[in-house]
Amino acid sequence: MADEPLILVLDEGTTSTRAMLFTPAGKVAAVAQQELTQHYPQPGWVEHDAAEIWDKTLACARRAIADAGGVGRVAAIGIANQRETVVAWDKASGKPLSRALVWQDRRTADDCARLKAQGFESDVQAKTGLLLDPYFSATKAAWLIRHREAVAGAAAAGRLALGTIESWLAFKLTGGLHVSDASNASRTQLLPLDAPQWDAGLCDLFGVPLHALGEVTDCCGLFEKTLPEWFGAAIPLTGMIGDQQSATIGQGCLSPGDVKATYGTGAFVLANMGARLPRSAHRLLGTVLLQAGGQRSYALEGSVFVAGSLIKWLRDGLGLIASAAESEELARSVSDSAGVVVVPALSGLGAPHWRPEARGIVTGLSFSSGKAHIARAALEAMAAQTHDLARAFAADGAAWRHLRIDGGMSANDWMAQDIADLLAIEVERPDMVETTALGAAMLAAVGAGLFSSLGDAAKSMRGPAQRFSPAMDEATRATRTNAWAQAIAAV
Ligand code: ADP
Repeated sequence: MADEPLILVLDEGTTSTRAMLFTPAGKVAAVAQQELTQHYPQPGWVEHDAAEIWDKTLACARRAIADAGGVGRVAAIGIANQRETVVAWDKASGKPLSRALVWQDRRTADDCARLKAQGFESDVQAKTGLLLDPYFSATKAAWLIRHREAVAGAAAAGRLALGTIESWLAFKLTGGLHVSDASNASRTQLLPLDAPQWDAGLCDLFGVPLHALGEVTDCCGLFEKTLPEWFGAAIPLTGMIGDQQSATIGQGCLSPGDVKATYGTGAFVLANMGARLPRSAHRLLGTVLLQAGGQRSYALEGSVFVAGSLIKWLRDGLGLIASAAESEELARSVSDSAGVVVVPALSGLGAPHWRPEARGIVTGLSFSSGKAHIARAALEAMAAQTHDLARAFAADGAAWRHLRIDGGMSANDWMAQDIADLLAIEVERPDMVETTALGAAMLAAVGAGLFSSLGDAAKSMRGPAQRFSPAMDEATRATRTNAWAQAIAAV
């Protein structure tokens, strides 16, 4: 329909910012994208320019709206964003006070180690679901206050605003609304999983002034309208959610037990836990999946540091393959990996091992090992790492019934089948793999009243999926998992 409403999604990734317009049937009406500058001032430091993020967001949104025929049909805006990244800005001028510290930034590793040595980790984990790690926002925000004069000055004057990317964009879009949706707020390490607002004790522990944080809100509903000057008309902002939670919604994982895995550079697995507070004894993270109508649902989360980046390394580092897709051809060209096992700990091991200092190995090499065996073993490592996560989730009371996959690497059919085989569960891959943007579109559509529930939005907006059913015999599965366990032990 020419006049059906459109939902504008601002998909704020780490390497790019994108604007996408969705129809209520889940079709993409327009897309615009721009790369973001990555600043690496020192090893382990990663920064973004928040003003650049805002400028490029605005430019992409305007481009996409123009391409789709103008602002008249745009009914709502939703944001899905890179999580944990911290922006400090001046509430009065609306200008950033320093560069944003990106989730990948490790500069607060010593601060985390000190808090751990002082015995704070178990308390922090019990309250927030998160481990003490530089990944999360709290130590980053405190670092900015300690090391950036402009940030400290604004804090002293009561003009400091701190927030994650959705918070920054909501402020700019609306001309001053300072909020943080519960899914993003739960990644800061300052929000208890079961409390509606920030925790003063955690703010004290990390050294983050409570007055600099915006109000914690639902992920959907009418927040406020955008300033008319941005798009030529005021558009209601009705959805905000962290990218991984958004992909979980976009995958239709709306019921407890539903699980999705995104295979990109790394791999992120989230399991819907419903209203049950996620507690992990296996170093998985507990997080807010969604807050709507003041009610929270939760997720258990585990991430693997190295997934697609291993294939990229086979291509660029070793020159073993010419393209990522060639890994699939090679894997299919042999009947097994001939005993070769790759443990892709190239930048440490994530959940459930949490060994950032670990390094990768290749075991079982012989003169008959060829590049096809190594490529196959590299892909097999994805199923093996996912299997480790599945076991940890099950041990934490969140056994997987099936798995929905997405991300650039999920295009590999051989890998998708291998995951189904090794985990002995049904794997499903949607044809429309932009699940992160789709989740925010579904939320914003519900927030704008286009659908009465996420279930209805999912029915209308989610498209068909391809299924991969397990077909591996038990003996092969046991051989594979034993070989992997031995290789992991060696790491
Ligand atoms: P990110 O969002 O983290 O940047 P993407 O979701 O775009 O990552 O996925 C890109 C990654 O997937 C790259 O690391 C690439 O090596 C890997 N990849 C892409 N296609 C394939 C394929 N057919 N087989 C294996 N790996 C692939």
